[in-house]
Amino acid sequence: MGPMANANTPPNSENSLSSIESACIEKGMKMTDQRRVIARVLSDSKDHPDVEDVYRRASKIDPKISIATVYRTLRLFDIANIIDRHDFGDGRARYEIAAEGSHHHHLIDMKTGHVLEFENEELESIKRRIARELGYRLVGERLELYGVPIGTGDETADSEDES
Ligand SMILES: [Zn+2]
Repeated sequence: MGPMANANTPPNSENSLSSIESACIEKGMKMTDQRRVIARVLSDSKDHPDVEDVYRRASKIDPKISIATVYRTLRLFDIANIIDRHDFGDGRARYEIAAEGSHHHHLIDMKTGHVLEFENEELESIKRRIARELGYRLVGERLELYGVPIGTGDETADSEDES
């Protein structure tokens, strides 16, 4: 990606640009009205919506948006590294805006499906050290934690081995 990507900066509308939208423009991506709606939905989401969630929220703003458009647009944003795609173990892809400065991980509550976000500096250095000791510079990763709340009587499930 080059620094000359935003040759076609659109004039500011009455709404300020969502952060995704500015990222798309920086990467030279054409922004249609429907992509703009989807970008705004993702910007406004505080959770980790799946395709259906994004479709539902986008439809409220523009009822003409199809789920196929949502799929295509999310894929495009994902390829451009504008959003992160997660797999929290239920087979559904979840999306959130790609973290710029901060870096967080997720703990998935196996009882409720709630997703907790956390950051841990020690974990970050451990990951870098492992890669370095194997002769690599860390450039990517996938890591999620799965748990049940302590005190719900399910702690014995800890000792179950998965084959
Ligand atoms: Zn997250």
